Amino acid sequence: MKIVRFITSSNNVPQYGLFEKGNIKPLSNSPFGDSIELDKGIYPEHDVKLLPPCTPTKIVAVGLNYKDHAEELGMKLPDEPLIFLKPPSSIIGPNDTIKRPEMSNQVDYEAELAVVIKQQCKDVSIKEAHNYILGYTCLNDVTARDLQRKDIQFTRSKSFDTFCPIGPWIKSDIDPTNLKIQSILNGQIRQDSSTNQLIYDPFELVSFISKIMTLEPGDIIATGTPVGVGQLSKGDEIVVSIEDIGTLKNFVE
Ligand code: MG
Repeated sequence: MKIVRFITSSNNVPQYGLFEKGNIKPLSNSPFGDSIELDKGIYPEHDVKLLPPCTPTKIVAVGLNYKDHAEELGMKLPDEPLIFLKPPSSIIGPNDTIKRPEMSNQVDYEAELAVVIKQQCKDVSIKEAHNYILGYTCLNDVTARDLQRKDIQFTRSKSFDTFCPIGPWIKSDIDPTNLKIQSILNGQIRQDSSTNQLIYDPFELVSFISKIMTLEPGDIIATGTPVGVGQLSKGDEIVVSIEDIGTLKNFVE
């Protein structure tokens, strides 16, 4: 299933729905419960605006989690996941605009596979982790690289408003461990890897993070970026594309 959040021209209240063959069917209940129920109605894709597909209480991101990226940087593989937080206020949806802050002279894109949590979890094992995952979406971990180097701490560089595009939907029922992942800047492929390069896969990450903090429905884990990150400039179009999930497009101001 492709689970979306959307508004229509006649209804500004966000609702959840299923995306099927260019149409959106609204749900009458939350997609985070035991079963999904369809409401009446159907909207063609061009009549709705897709929103970020969930509203997390936190975004837990993972640094240096691709073998190809670690090799590129000449760094040895981490012996535990390296995690940091991005604030929910950094989230934007598909086709929204990334705003480069005045404080930074180098704003980079990072294509990432994002895990969306289905139900509250704490201290889950790697084996149980799949029960707590609703699905997967595309995420761009936009980063003010110059400030990341300067601060050492990641908070400022990762947290500006608009620095966390997610979407276009949450894709359920897929195997996340061998998916092609790309970033495409102005039509040119810049990152081109596979989630089979992940050092810690989504199940290991859910388990590890749940031993630190309680994960809530809709929370997001950004699983790290592969080799080939680069800079965003005014007027750019940046796309994150993940096999079996979809394409997240944003613009840069
Ligand atoms: Mg990242």
